[in-house]
Amino acid sequence: MPNYDAHVLSGIITYPLAVALAGILADYAGIPFKLTSMAMVLGYALYVLGADLPDMDHPNALIHRGTKPIVAVLLGSAVYMWAAERIHLSQPWMSQTAAWGVGAVGAVVGWYGFTAVMPRHRGVVHSLLFATIYGFLAFLLGPYGLHISTGEGLFLGFSAFSGYTLHLILDGSVKLI
Ligand SMILES: [Zn+2]
Repeated sequence: MPNYDAHVLSGIITYPLAVALAGILADYAGIPFKLTSMAMVLGYALYVLGADLPDMDHPNALIHRGTKPIVAVLLGSAVYMWAAERIHLSQPWMSQTAAWGVGAVGAVVGWYGFTAVMPRHRGVVHSLLFATIYGFLAFLLGPYGLHISTGEGLFLGFSAFSGYTLHLILDGSVKLI
């Protein structure tokens, strides 16, 4: 079972092959990938991230532990904004403190909830279904998030999907769901 270093390094090293594969698919299968420098730089990040992302489903994995505080803070901030509109005490600082108190509770729920709701290790998160979802989100990020062309977005989706699938191959278990 490869560890964090092996998964990330495998992504770092094999990216040229993903670029080659995209080029071949564009030339021979007519898939309209646009391999601009911008698309390839973003694609590299998505590919290498994808090469470790499936281990999100393991509570001890670095990617899981690294994502957890981000999820907790995002949820805590959202709960704070919800509470700030509803709490009105005599002084503004009292309202802010109280709203952040509620927000911090939300963050703690996010902290434990993130681990609790994650499917079991090497379950559905380690599947081609999730590789496809990750690839699709990466594709959407292109034209809709970053306003780059559809062909560049297609390459981002391809890079993300390929990096994720590389992880499944190294784990020795490529399943559909
Ligand atoms: Zn894995």
